[in-house]
Amino acid sequence: MSTTLISETNRPTAPASGDGLIMLVGLGRKEIAAHLTELEPILGIEPKKVRMRTKQLFQWIYNFGVTEWSQMTNIAKPLRAKFETVFSLERPEVIERQVSVDGTRKYLIRMGPGIEVESVFIPDVSKTGALCVSSQVGCTLTCKFCHTGTQKLVRNLTAREIVLQIIIARDDLGEWPTTQENRKLTNIVFMGMGEPLYNTEQVGDSLDIICDPEGLGIGRRRITVSTSGVVPEIVPMGARTSAMLAISLHAANDELREQIMPINRKYPLKDLMQACRDYPGLSNSRRITFEYVMLKGINDQPWHAKQLIRLLKGIPAKVNLIPFNPWPGSEYECSDWETIETFSDLVNSAGYASPIRTPRGRDILAACGQLKSESEKMRASEKRKLEQQTPES
Ligand code: SF4
Repeated sequence: MSTTLISETNRPTAPASGDGLIMLVGLGRKEIAAHLTELEPILGIEPKKVRMRTKQLFQWIYNFGVTEWSQMTNIAKPLRAKFETVFSLERPEVIERQVSVDGTRKYLIRMGPGIEVESVFIPDVSKTGALCVSSQVGCTLTCKFCHTGTQKLVRNLTAREIVLQIIIARDDLGEWPTTQENRKLTNIVFMGMGEPLYNTEQVGDSLDIICDPEGLGIGRRRITVSTSGVVPEIVPMGARTSAMLAISLHAANDELREQIMPINRKYPLKDLMQACRDYPGLSNSRRITFEYVMLKGINDQPWHAKQLIRLLKGIPAKVNLIPFNPWPGSEYECSDWETIETFSDLVNSAGYASPIRTPRGRDILAACGQLKSESEKMRASEKRKLEQQTPES
């Protein structure tokens, strides 16, 4: 492959691969079109053909998942050869791929130096499967039950980096093209590392790419954005994305919720519930999911369940009961099975579906609240490596 490096003046701001090529995978239509326009001197694509060429590239990348230029059979060879000199179809490196005994798959992906994210494919969700994606590296919040909360925020992920998590999972599952029947990855949940509503712009942009019917083609109703309760962003996010909403609730009174989730001090339950009532498109067929982790002796008693029922009054809701997944150093224990069942029965009998979520991927620390990458450590070790490589002055 011949490589023409792009001159500094022509170099767009998009991420470049090691050899200076623009990495196309993960970019949206607008960005692809901008590159085609900007690179007209090299590619020779007339302005009136930019839209058509963008569509072709978009479909090859997101519908067919191609990794070779030669696979783009409706683009003439000479143009493909030019594309090859400026663009790359490369994916980020998967540093680690673990498969649980229950079929859950966890990917640790390096998006850049010191930027490592985890995503988890969970089979048998909604009859098919869901990919749990990260929206930040680390998190600014410190929910006490969550392993990610112990990892300081490194940075927000870009829309491209969110989309790449799906591409990697589709590669691994062999689920190209989008039209393939019986695909397992049909749902996306923003429940990985980070608080998506502290990164709303990039999350919104990523959904535009993920949901595009000519690409990955995942319907907006199959996408759930979960928040710990960033109240001011809840309604705007719903209006922008039409995604389903999940609230990481875990306690039904302010005193307890403040202990478990410090964000409750800023946005108390009254405001959070109001934002839920105002969520666009809410109906019995578009219910809000309330996540409730079962912590032994903390939030799992029948009176907690009754408080929860009162709190949810008037909101089309479903409650997901999550047996707590321990992680190294965690201060909680999981409630007993019997206690969880009693809790579930109470909530159920009040008219709210309250399935007990089967813990998935516990053996590979891929279960809910267990994700944590080694970004901080990596940065330190990479720094050391760099220092070793730098000759003494
Ligand atoms: S539950 Fe979500 S918001 Fe809370 S610390 Fe964990 S990743 Fe952050």
